[in-house]
Amino acid sequence: MTFPADLTTLDFDNRFTRELPADKDASPYPRQVMGASYSRVTPKQFAAPKLVAHSREVAELLGLGENAHTSDAFARVFAGNEQLPGMDPFAMCYGGHQFGNWAGQLGDGRAINLGEVHGTDGAHWMLQLKGAGQTPYSRGGDGLAVLRSSVREFLCSEAMFHLGVPTTRALSLVRTGELVERDMFYDGNPKDEPGAVVCRVARSFIRFGSFEILAARGEKELLQKFTDFTIRSLFPHLGEPSQATYAAFFEEVCRTTAAMVVEWMRVGFVHGVMNTDNLSILGETIDYGPYGWLENFDPNWTPNTTDAHGRRYRFGHQGRVAQWNLVQLANALVPLFDSTKPLEAAVNDYASVYEKGWREMMASKLGFSEHNGDDDAALIGELMAVFDLAETDMTVFFRGLADVDVAADTRADERIGAVIDAYYVPTQLAGGVRERLGGWLDRYADRVRDEDDGRAERMNAVNPKYVLRNYLAQLAIDKAEKGDDSLVIELLDVLRRPYDEQPTKEEHAAKRPDWARERPGCSMLSCSS
Ligand code: AMP
Ligand code: MG
Repeated sequence: MTFPADLTTLDFDNRFTRELPADKDASPYPRQVMGASYSRVTPKQFAAPKLVAHSREVAELLGLGENAHTSDAFARVFAGNEQLPGMDPFAMCYGGHQFGNWAGQLGDGRAINLGEVHGTDGAHWMLQLKGAGQTPYSRGGDGLAVLRSSVREFLCSEAMFHLGVPTTRALSLVRTGELVERDMFYDGNPKDEPGAVVCRVARSFIRFGSFEILAARGEKELLQKFTDFTIRSLFPHLGEPSQATYAAFFEEVCRTTAAMVVEWMRVGFVHGVMNTDNLSILGETIDYGPYGWLENFDPNWTPNTTDAHGRRYRFGHQGRVAQWNLVQLANALVPLFDSTKPLEAAVNDYASVYEKGWREMMASKLGFSEHNGDDDAALIGELMAVFDLAETDMTVFFRGLADVDVAADTRADERIGAVIDAYYVPTQLAGGVRERLGGWLDRYADRVRDEDDGRAERMNAVNPKYVLRNYLAQLAIDKAEKGDDSLVIELLDVLRRPYDEQPTKEEHAAKRPDWARERPGCSMLSCSS
């Protein structure tokens, strides 16, 4: 087939498939893939691919023409139906710890990488289709994805990018024109749902589990080759591979992972399934599944129904779980070292790096020019305690706090007025609770009075007004499932400027409405996608 000129501008340079060993078996059947980093695969042919939405920033990054997305060929290419010259589709082999247990080989069971493109920024960008059919890693699965989960991945990865949180990107969301059967709550009620494919984009999709599988199998030579490839292609600033470089590499992964989780805590993002196969070696948010956005500030909240019992992946535990995952990565790298000391030191440092990052982040949310030690820690601690007393919308609260009048003679009632919208159940603010909130606001006012100049601007640059609230994503999905993509497109646009006031879009900044409190998709999500 001939492609429109503005699609063939994609300039492929496939380092991963060129430099790492391929599976010698070309069949698509589920199997253990040994001695290889990937298997070449052919994406499925879908009945009627149709573009729902695309990210113009990602298209630009890849050097696609401004109108590239308007052709039928675009939808067909990014559903996997056609391959552009230079593409070399493959599925990656990796393993992982799921919910704390070693799960063995996982791999790209429903993701197909198309190849690496030279971006307009000079970097290599891997294009990856999620939901484009079976691979040798599909185990019992169909390799497909439904529109519901694809809307969530597409919108959230772009929203996170615009919030300034390290993340994989999304180029496109395409309906396949086919139905996919899913039992959303694993309760014996399967339903046909519309199918979709998201084209994800990242410098790499290498995960902690990519290293773990090689170590678990004792494939030391390949582990070294794979680590050397990772360092040369993604961490070239560390220098040529050596034991010192391996140590520096692991230290950097510890630092970027800590920084990523701190950013999640800043915006109220709960990943929901932080298994080691879902942690990127680049410290970027990856694999948007049963994630959720914190509404009322509750450190114990997890959006994932599969996690409801142990709450391993609850909001307040994400920093600790990331460290647990880093320990698994360290264990996988042990065969490359004569002494485990550098790995142990980096894992130990993680805790202080994370704590410091979290303190500074909280100080910035409160508008402090810096974190002043114990007194600020106590003030932040008291705020957490106040949050615990009444259901408080995190996003609305911090946005409102920027407007609090901190002049010495302002009455507590007036200050409370600036944040009152954050309260889900106003009657919870009765008596003692109201007093405690007022007391905290008084202390807060005393703390920031001397640095009030520019405080609101500083705060509004780190406290978003617009996030992909769980109910907003669900409303967009409800419409899209009826064939109306307008809310997907509108939210994509609103979420491009999450820190700006957008007076005509206020409704998308509203806290969760009552109907969404217990509705599946809004407060409870499963891994079924
Ligand atoms: P996740 O929970 O999305 O991280 O997926 C865990 C593993 O299951 C990965 O190896 C996925 O590729 C695989 N997987 C998830 N859904 C499917 C599916 N529908 N078909 C095939 N493999 C899947
Ligand atoms: Mg995964």
